Amino acid sequence: MIEILNSSELARARDAGALVAHILQTLKSRTEVGTSLLDIDEWARNLIVEAGAQSCYVDYEPSFGRGPFGHYICTSVNDAVLHGLPHDYPLADGDLLTLDLAVSLRGIAADSAISFVVGASKHPESLAMISATERALSAGIAAARPGARIGDLSAAIGAVLSEAGYPINTAFGGHGIGSTMHQDPHIPNTGRPGRGYVLRPGLLLALEPWIMADTAELVTDADGWTLRSATGCRAAHSEHTIAITDEGAEILTLPQQAQP
Ligand code: MG
Ligand code: MG
Repeated sequence: MIEILNSSELARARDAGALVAHILQTLKSRTEVGTSLLDIDEWARNLIVEAGAQSCYVDYEPSFGRGPFGHYICTSVNDAVLHGLPHDYPLADGDLLTLDLAVSLRGIAADSAISFVVGASKHPESLAMISATERALSAGIAAARPGARIGDLSAAIGAVLSEAGYPINTAFGGHGIGSTMHQDPHIPNTGRPGRGYVLRPGLLLALEPWIMADTAELVTDADGWTLRSATGCRAAHSEHTIAITDEGAEILTLPQQAQP
């Protein structure tokens, strides 16, 4: 199913996107060495409830996971990249953490992910990976406008990731979003321009480049949810929800500027 949002739905999508961005930045600001992934999950739950929003994750039960997710945010650490199930793990200095959050507000969902290094450690390899996913995300967004095709976005994302030297897994990628979190069209993180669904105003898309340092192969953790790199290498992920408008693409999950 592909949904085209009307103007009132788009207004709600903007609110949902702003909320997701606010929660992610709040969680990032609170996260420090020693923070447990379960603390982050509890903070996320409280922020979602306080905003009157609904988690897209807690009851989520797709074919690729084991039973309902049962948590409010995905927390993927180091070699974990997608669907990281929160555990009682205290974060260490230099850990690469990805927070991936989707919530629904008044019936419209927004989805965003950020990766960052915990503590004072710089960990250049991780920062380079994070930068590559952020640049790929920007390239995908820049290619998004009415009349463009999904393949144009995929090609733009894939070009940046390949140029940076990372293998690309196409099993999981971006997606349409709207009244539910995951909709058609699927947006692989590499592809050929000029192919696929034609974008039009009112379409909501989640673009999400993710990479692993030296492999494209995933393995599923014993928890039945967390996807890790097959080689144990680190992984990074950046995601925004965008709306296709007459003018181009509007990013709905951009963090607000910090207060002076
Ligand atoms: Mg996401
Ligand atoms: Mg997503």
